[in-house]
Amino acid sequence: MSKMQENTGNQYKFAQRMSNTPRSFVREILKVTENPEIISFAGGLPNPQSFPVGPISTSVSEVLEESGSEALQYSTTEGYTPLRKYIAERYSSQGLNVNEDEILITNGSQQCLDLVGKVFLDKGDTVLLEKPTYLAAIQAFSLYEVQFKSVRLLEDGVDIDEMENMLSTENIKLFYAVTNFQNPTGITYSNNKRKKLAKLMRDYDTILIEDNPYGEIRFMGSSIPPVKSYLDEGILFGSFSKIVSPGMRLGWIVAREKVMEKLIIAKQASDLHSNYFTQRIVYQYLNTNPVDEHIQKIRNLYKKQRNLMIKMIEEHFPPQVKYTQPEGGMFLWVTLPEGTSSLELFDRAIEENVAFVPGQAFFAEGNGENTMRLNFTNSDDKGIEEGIKRLGNVIKERLSQN
Ligand code: PMP
Repeated sequence: MSKMQENTGNQYKFAQRMSNTPRSFVREILKVTENPEIISFAGGLPNPQSFPVGPISTSVSEVLEESGSEALQYSTTEGYTPLRKYIAERYSSQGLNVNEDEILITNGSQQCLDLVGKVFLDKGDTVLLEKPTYLAAIQAFSLYEVQFKSVRLLEDGVDIDEMENMLSTENIKLFYAVTNFQNPTGITYSNNKRKKLAKLMRDYDTILIEDNPYGEIRFMGSSIPPVKSYLDEGILFGSFSKIVSPGMRLGWIVAREKVMEKLIIAKQASDLHSNYFTQRIVYQYLNTNPVDEHIQKIRNLYKKQRNLMIKMIEEHFPPQVKYTQPEGGMFLWVTLPEGTSSLELFDRAIEENVAFVPGQAFFAEGNGENTMRLNFTNSDDKGIEEGIKRLGNVIKERLSQN
């Protein structure tokens, strides 16, 4: 075959980095759950009832009327300064001292993962993850051809002893953690664990990436300062997805100036800047609406949904099944008895028109066959009641076959 034929045939010369990066398992599952008959606990979607459609519509008109031609222009990579100031002030009011120069607006917090990869990760580097971890972080970092190690999550955060052992024996470049209401487990790091984690990161000169898209969605207990408040050099991600709208795709990175310089270069090369019009709309919305009341409404809604799901689990799941009881966020995590395959269970559940995410997708190094993630924010009460009942029956049926 001639060279020309090779290039135009079905043998494209894809970059090596693509060969180890699979499509997102969750996104594939979501295709199955598009069938409206299916009660889905699989997605990671906020409840659309919580979207401020009316106020956003007003903000769009106001931005266009007051500064339309400017808002439709290109802008700076760093992001709209008043929006960055707003974020910095919100942190300061919560006890974390940050100024707007330490904030870069991104295309959702998902882009933060990619930018961190561009700035810090070389081929062959080792990235430490929680076990289990956010699936799309595995995907984002995989594109940088890194190796993964993972450390066990306990009820109050990562296993610090195991982690110290790993840091002292392996050459680990960065650790990625979701410290509040983790995706997928719903687990939150205790304050004590945060302090210990900060110390370890410093002692072993490891970069901490603290991803916090759910922090504001705490509906029980009291909020805990980010690890970054104990580790100034830590890198923190935030997002408007869970408090305003995920479709608007706005998030941010908080990092020291030295890191910020590199992140800005990476972002320039990638997309010049995040959608400026959307930044203006979100800023207008935040500035002209009672945002705390809005967030409180989301918390109340999710708390109700979480409580109902737990009540139904208590009633319908067999007692050998364990589950987390998150104080916020959107997910809870179910652990079935050893030897029960949640993948097999998934197929049976789909026959009963109910869906979840089999947990093994969230383990970078395998395992987790007997686990599953349930989302409680995107089903109505009837869906939660009926879906958990059906899932309980499928689990009981499976366990009776063991
Ligand atoms: N990090 C975590 C832990 C998440 O759960 C999500 C959303 N599923 C993201 C990042 C990405 O969120 P976004 O890009 O919408 O801010």
